[in-house]
Amino acid sequence: MRIARFVVDAEPQYGLIEGEPDAPQQDLEVVVLHGDPFFQGIQPTATRHRLSDVRLVAPIIPRSKIVGVGRNWADHAAELGNQVPDSPQFFLKPNTSVVGPGEPVTLPPWSEQVSYEAELAVVIGTICKDVPAERVDDVVFGYTVGNDLTARDAQKADLQWARAKGFDGSCPLGPWIETGLKSTDTEDLGIRMELDGTLVQDGRTSDMVFGVREIVSAVSQAFTLLPGDVILTGTPAGVGLVEAGQRTEATVEGIGSLRTLYRR
Ligand code: ZN
Repeated sequence: MRIARFVVDAEPQYGLIEGEPDAPQQDLEVVVLHGDPFFQGIQPTATRHRLSDVRLVAPIIPRSKIVGVGRNWADHAAELGNQVPDSPQFFLKPNTSVVGPGEPVTLPPWSEQVSYEAELAVVIGTICKDVPAERVDDVVFGYTVGNDLTARDAQKADLQWARAKGFDGSCPLGPWIETGLKSTDTEDLGIRMELDGTLVQDGRTSDMVFGVREIVSAVSQAFTLLPGDVILTGTPAGVGLVEAGQRTEATVEGIGSLRTLYRR
């Protein structure tokens, strides 16, 4: 199932996306759900809208945290002159970094080098700690697409990555959460990024250094994970800078495409 959050007139609501996975967005519909599916389960109502009549927002605003994984693709680590680490390397992004599909990101005035990074994002469904790799599916709500925007100049200049990775708008998420994938289904998915329609990243999750099971298990050994927490699993090679007026579209096979606009 594809779980989205959307706005029709007032407060955001959750909905179930209906229609063929490859159908154009104007042919999709959204069935309104009762309440919050993270806590009340998936309870469809009788109300539905055409997707083109609603505005999708970020499918989740994490209540506590987004954990990113750095250097999880050998070719991406190499393109920035870095080694592949022996264990997953984590950083945090605050929940104020989240924006939804199609939303504009204001590039921070203190950076001249903001880079896109297309990523598979894991959405946690249940409070957990010290999760064994073989039980990761029990704690995952679903998967979405992330764009781990990074101010490359600040990342090099600052002692910590907080500003470089956590500025407002640095974590576009969406368009929805796919709940139908098991962790084994994420072992060979295509991840692409287009910049103004040109393919710039084209990787597969089979090339990740650490897979979803290892990552979620390792993250949970450092942090208690709460429902709605998000883990970004790293990006393939081909990262590059974005400028105001440009647009990116990150796609993860089997999940969907996340469009982001940039402005100053
Ligand atoms: Zn990243």
